[in-house]
Amino acid sequence: MEENTEKAGRVFLYELINFIEDSLVDSHNSYKAIPQFADTPELDTVLEQDPAVIQSNMGFMLPKDDSLEKISSDIRSCRACRLYAGRKNTVPGFGSIKPVVMVLGEAPGAEEDASGLPFVGAAGKLLDKMLSAIGLSRENNCFIGNIVKCRPPHNRDPAPDEQAACMPFLERQIALLDPKAFLTIGRIPGQALLNTKDSLGRLRGKVYDFRGKPLVASYHPSALLRDESYKRPAWEDLKLLKSMLDKLGK
Ligand code: SF4
Repeated sequence: MEENTEKAGRVFLYELINFIEDSLVDSHNSYKAIPQFADTPELDTVLEQDPAVIQSNMGFMLPKDDSLEKISSDIRSCRACRLYAGRKNTVPGFGSIKPVVMVLGEAPGAEEDASGLPFVGAAGKLLDKMLSAIGLSRENNCFIGNIVKCRPPHNRDPAPDEQAACMPFLERQIALLDPKAFLTIGRIPGQALLNTKDSLGRLRGKVYDFRGKPLVASYHPSALLRDESYKRPAWEDLKLLKSMLDKLGK
């Protein structure tokens, strides 16, 4: 009861600040960021007690009456950035609607663009194997997606303005799916969610507090396919994620 009152108070205070900000600033944002205030005591406890956890923060949004279908439909019709022009299909993501872990890469590649599904092909198969090694799968307990939903030409990195334009869709997915933990694979999703320019070598090997949930950053499976020396640190990262899930009883 006390907890609910405290959470309602924090939401009210946040909305009040936003109202004042909107009154002072001419904002063109179509979305209103509403943070998901952590209300799961055991998660807070795990993160507070773990010295390896590093604080991180970013805005949040949750339109009313949202659904995964509506998000996918909005993505299909989206022209908010230049990437719409070259896509065959949008790739909103795939997986459990009650995921333990949300796995996030940077953007669809050629096979994903052709199929509309995330992480297909050799890298996708390797990702499935890696997840399976710690009891996870996209069929049962993971949702797999990307921070950008359309393929960048020639598989280039998604530009910062493209990432920013697409972020509202990811925000809505996170709000609906409410995963217990996050695994970012590759440099760009780790940097985007943790709001940092640190290299992946510096980001990996730690647990971050991303809105009250543990987040582990690791290598993209395609990097492991190119260079076997990444396999050991990637496995260490997966074990780290597993240890956090164990602590949470997931
Ligand atoms: S990448 Fe995202 S923001 Fe850009 S057109 Fe596709 S869905 Fe829209």
